[in-house]
Amino acid sequence: MADLGSITNALSQFSPREILETTILFDPMEPVYFCDCSHPRLGGVLGLLEPDELQELIDSPKNTELICHFCNQRHHFNRAQLEEILRKRGSGN
Ligand SMILES: [Zn+2]
Repeated sequence: MADLGSITNALSQFSPREILETTILFDPMEPVYFCDCSHPRLGGVLGLLEPDELQELIDSPKNTELICHFCNQRHHFNRAQLEEILRKRGSGN
């Protein structure tokens, strides 16, 4: 029979914040409400790709879909949006 007292004792070594983070880590199905991903933000991630990689996505007949690793929200990018990202990337540096 496990001693419940020792579990409480073990948890007391962690701050509430650490326990919360541990809970999130061990429960991937739990939505992460503080995720601030957005279409422009993920567009910025696409802007980190090499121009030829972006061109490859533009040339693809499929829509580009990014899935946020934190909240699993899907963000679609159509060809016009990808071309816009490529254009901005080109003028950026
Ligand atoms: Zn997200």
